[in-house]
Amino acid sequence: MKIRRIEIIGFKSFVDRTVLEFPDGVTAVVGPNGCGKSNVVDAIRWVMGEQSAKNLRGRAMEDIIFAGSENRRSLGMAEVSLVFSTEDGRVPAKYLDYSEIQVTRRLYRDGDSEYFLNKTPCRLLDINELFMDTGVGARAYSIIEQGRIGMILMAKPEERRFLIEEAAGVTKFKSRKQVALKK
Ligand code: ATP
Ligand code: MG
Repeated sequence: MKIRRIEIIGFKSFVDRTVLEFPDGVTAVVGPNGCGKSNVVDAIRWVMGEQSAKNLRGRAMEDIIFAGSENRRSLGMAEVSLVFSTEDGRVPAKYLDYSEIQVTRRLYRDGDSEYFLNKTPCRLLDINELFMDTGVGARAYSIIEQGRIGMILMAKPEERRFLIEEAAGVTKFKSRKQVALKK
């Protein structure tokens, strides 16, 4: 799965609809301090299902909604859509017929949260399953932020096992086993 495009509306500093394209090759995001580079990464992690406000550098989840500035009023909703190409075939069988997969997450200030897969409402579980064992996902190794390498090196073997299981493709089976055991 390869990220092709991200559309950001009302997420952190992106008050107006912003679309960023990721063509083949390397894409670098550059700009002065505080211009919103890390916010792009936060948006990617958030739309993939991140549940911890702290991991998104906030105190509460609603901190990701545009909070207003000197000349713009705050917004009541944030929405991010991430579009993946399925060319490499590394997607669950049910998505192989699509050339693109669009994942959307929306959050309202009153706390209501919505997820969509190819514009159809879905559960967080469906988003999690889509990304399991692909290396993509809110907690997987496709996003290596500042300090993460050090954390991986210093982690206890049991903690590091999570990354190895993701790479080996057993995360999905483990998760299903846990669900089955709970029933
Ligand atoms: P650096 O080079 O220092 O790492 P950066 O480009 O990564 O900077 P970010 O951390 O992405 O910058 O952006 C920080 C900016 O985002 C700050 O100006 C902050 O006020 C703004 N910001 C964060 N959350 C919100 C929000 N909810 N509403 C409005 N602006 C926000
Ligand atoms: Mg930054």
